[in-house]
Amino acid sequence: MAQGKSEVHGCIVCGKPYQVLVAYDAQGNYIASKVMSAGGGEVKGVSRPLVACERHTNEEIERAVNRVYGETLNEEEEA
Ligand SMILES: [Zn+2]
Repeated sequence: MAQGKSEVHGCIVCGKPYQVLVAYDAQGNYIASKVMSAGGGEVKGVSRPLVACERHTNEEIERAVNRVYGETLNEEEEA
């Protein structure tokens, strides 16, 4: 059974906070997310809840995702 959890996530590009309903499975794995605030959209194709303003282009979003993922991976490797 999926469980919806209300979380606040910042836009991947500009950091604007959005209220997001995030679904996890029983093991706590991310399934899907739905942006509840106006002007924001879910970033698809990633294995974690990510949001971006609808006004950003796909290219902007992709670049930001790559940048943030790189930082996240580095931090995890160094920890
Ligand atoms: Zn934004």
